[in-house]
Amino acid sequence: MRSTLRGDFTRGLRFRLTVTYLLMFSLMLTAIGFLFRSNLSTTLDTQAHELLEEEWSAALAYLTFENQRPVWFYDHVDPDEAAIVTRLQRVYMLTDENGNVLQNSVTYANLGFDAPALIKSILANPTAVYRTVIGPQGTRYLIKSSHIVDKKHIYYLALGRPLDLSDQTLRRFTVNYFIALPGLILLTGLLGWLLAGRVIGPVNDVSQAAQRITGSSLDMRIPLRGAGDELDHLIDTFNSMMDRLKASFEQVRQFSTDVSHELRTPLTAIRGQLEVALMTASTPEQYREAMEKALEDVEGLSNIVRALLLLSQAESGQLVLQKTNLDLSATANDILEQFEFAAEEKHIRMQSHIEPKCVIFADRTQMDRLLNNLLSNAIKYTPEGGSVQLEIACHEDDIRLTVSDTGVGIQASQLPHIFDRFYRVRTPETNGQQGLGLGLSFVDWIVKAHDGRIDISSEPGKGTRFAVSFPKIDPASESPSPANVPDALPA
Ligand code: ADP
Repeated sequence: MRSTLRGDFTRGLRFRLTVTYLLMFSLMLTAIGFLFRSNLSTTLDTQAHELLEEEWSAALAYLTFENQRPVWFYDHVDPDEAAIVTRLQRVYMLTDENGNVLQNSVTYANLGFDAPALIKSILANPTAVYRTVIGPQGTRYLIKSSHIVDKKHIYYLALGRPLDLSDQTLRRFTVNYFIALPGLILLTGLLGWLLAGRVIGPVNDVSQAAQRITGSSLDMRIPLRGAGDELDHLIDTFNSMMDRLKASFEQVRQFSTDVSHELRTPLTAIRGQLEVALMTASTPEQYREAMEKALEDVEGLSNIVRALLLLSQAESGQLVLQKTNLDLSATANDILEQFEFAAEEKHIRMQSHIEPKCVIFADRTQMDRLLNNLLSNAIKYTPEGGSVQLEIACHEDDIRLTVSDTGVGIQASQLPHIFDRFYRVRTPETNGQQGLGLGLSFVDWIVKAHDGRIDISSEPGKGTRFAVSFPKIDPASESPSPANVPDALPA
């Protein structure tokens, strides 16, 4: 897939960006060219009309009639005036009202005299008529025709001017512009290609860096470019994703190490017992005794596997919580009863301050597990003669559950780890106690899955206090949302 992408050059972002840019630019330039050309043509046209209008006025000033014969009246000695009149007479034709030619220029004769019918229709028209006529050499002429009146006599005058200069200007513009256009487009394409390269370059760097990252090089991070742009934002997001991936990998690795370690110890014990029995036992009683011990250890193993299975279900979101409006006070009272015997046996005083009717939106089984884990730990890690206290209080904003004991306590340095899986504090005081190191992992997960929080305060030799708070049920929401899938179990 990657090689196909790399091989097909035309599918590259750089190519597509350049082509899009080029197409748009070409279209824009062509449209601008046509717009300019049409503007220029209109301007030249207006200019020609204005000049012809001026020439018409000048012609009327110089043209007089004597006995119905046209006479151009000007100072023949003045070269300027002579030049003006000569210019006025370049393209012209004068007839009487019947269309009989009185005077004309050679150029007009070459264009062809106006037909008497045309002359008559123009004379009948009160306004002047403008026409464009093409000469034998292909030159265009703008011609104005109208009537002029002298002493009650009507004459027909047609005056024109060549449009060759205007046409030449327009042609030159068109040729120059459209010859330059391909060059301009080519230059733009080149510029677009370079520009796209500059934009895409860092993206390629990021992609190459991402390709170098493997399961064993999860420490690698793509350096930020410092531009503070979208790409830097992308790199930043990518790097944070790598941090999370690394933590996840680390968690999985740690979990498998812990699991294999925890399973190996009881397995080795079982194997040892069975080997010893095989070598030393001789009577059925001795065999029975060895098998009972092995069975006890197998039971321990099953407990670990069961707890792990439950944990992995929680982690993958398969453990669906059945949340209801749960009276935490009643639940706590039920659980307390179950611990009375164990406490009595250890001469531990059980105290409780349970405010009635503290209701939370929770899963009953998980709340039982949470209370069980916290209370059994408190009893387990409190020496004989100590006391354990359970408190439940309904506060204005939340419901608080506190389990405190006068037990062995936990060192401050150990506190950040006690929620980790299989983590057990190894001190002379705790070493005699049985446990998997999974209880508090469950507690932590249950609290999080119920949107609560947990705080611990502990002093070695004096005791420990676990304070859990859960959000209060909003009285407005009569029917809370259905059971939800818990979040993944944290490390
Ligand atoms: P375990 O099965 O070892 O009790 P937990 O996850 O429940 O595992 O607890 C983790 C560790 O935290 C325990 O091994 C113990 O060292 C410490 N701990 C938990 N609760 C208490 C407590 N109430 N007093 C002192 N230490 C405690």
